[in-house]
Amino acid sequence: MTYKNYPMVSRVVFGRGSFNQIGDILAPKRLNVKAPFIYLVDDVFKGNAWLTSRVSLAYADELIFISADEEPKTSQVDELVEQIILTHKDRPSGIIGIGGGTILDLAKAVSIMLTNPGESKDYQGWDLVKTPAIYHVGIPTISGTGAEVSRTTVLTGPDKKLGINSDYTPFDQVILDPELTKGVPKDQWFYTGMDCFIHCVESLNGTYLNAFSQSYGEKAYDLCTEIFLDGSGSEEDLQDKLMMASWHGGMSIAYSQVGVAHAMSYGLGYLLGTKHGIGNCIVFDHLEEFYPEGVAVYKKMKKIHNIEIPQGICSQLDDYELDIMIDVALGLEPLWENAIGKNWKKTITREKLKALYQKM
Ligand code: NAD
Ligand code: ZN
Repeated sequence: MTYKNYPMVSRVVFGRGSFNQIGDILAPKRLNVKAPFIYLVDDVFKGNAWLTSRVSLAYADELIFISADEEPKTSQVDELVEQIILTHKDRPSGIIGIGGGTILDLAKAVSIMLTNPGESKDYQGWDLVKTPAIYHVGIPTISGTGAEVSRTTVLTGPDKKLGINSDYTPFDQVILDPELTKGVPKDQWFYTGMDCFIHCVESLNGTYLNAFSQSYGEKAYDLCTEIFLDGSGSEEDLQDKLMMASWHGGMSIAYSQVGVAHAMSYGLGYLLGTKHGIGNCIVFDHLEEFYPEGVAVYKKMKKIHNIEIPQGICSQLDDYELDIMIDVALGLEPLWENAIGKNWKKTITREKLKALYQKM
């Protein structure tokens, strides 16, 4: 047995208002005046001076607003990289992602593809990246995915939705400023928050579980119930807690895996473009047989916050389309092995997944 030797985020700042320090944090990392910092910022912040006025652009620095309406695609990563290479003489000093999982994943992928040849689709998988990425910084503005701490960047490519999992993917620096999450709409807060909750349930109930994952998973699970079930404490307290829950949830799956909800949600995402947070919620609603306790708690949370989950999104799909989703889901073997065990193929049949999808 050889144990994996994982890299982690090397530096992290936590605190309300810590985003103010961004200039001081980046300054020593500037390579030269021609090597810019490139900021990839969720376009929900366009015209929002409260946030953007704190990003001071010097020399050739550039701020690019990006829509998070669709999840990152390999083609989008390749276009961004090309645009950056064509616009700037020198390789950037750093890439800074400011936004949710969508923007954080783009920032990670762009920083990798600036130093590695070819197209980003060639790196979807495990440990395919050969050259270290350029310095990259993650600044989450919504909490739950754990993308700020993880070793992957999830991309939709021409033939699969799969992460670039590599030692060079994690951020060199993360700024955790819970104040940045204050404008998140309620439904989205719930969907992305549930991503964290589901990470915990899948990790804690998986066959890959070990004390490392359990310690992080239990902490994140408890924080989620404090936030979504009890809900006591000020708005600020709840924002702080969810940001740390996201971090711990991400750490929990580093040394284990996610499970059934994620496998099936990737299928929905690939075929229908259903976004990760809401997709997980749609799937998790129907997973009592796999996660009885987790699903019961989830349903309570949904009721408390009056959240409607879309129904019947698969009811009109034909067999061809269902097969595409089933292929994507079944392709994620480590997730099933974690969820069910080594012999998962005995119970997780195409018919089984078809019946589940048809309920959604
Ligand atoms: P997101 O980044 O897609 O954003 C969701 C919505 O919230 C968007 O409309 C965005 O504009 C808005 N938003 C974000 N911050 C806001 C703010 N402060 N105020 C107002 N609106 C705000 O959402 P997400 O759930 O964080 O990310 C989903 C993505 O994360 C998916 O692409 C998924 O694949 C990825 N993901 C990655 C990992 C990983 O480890 N790399 C893990 C889980 C999910
Ligand atoms: Zn997730």
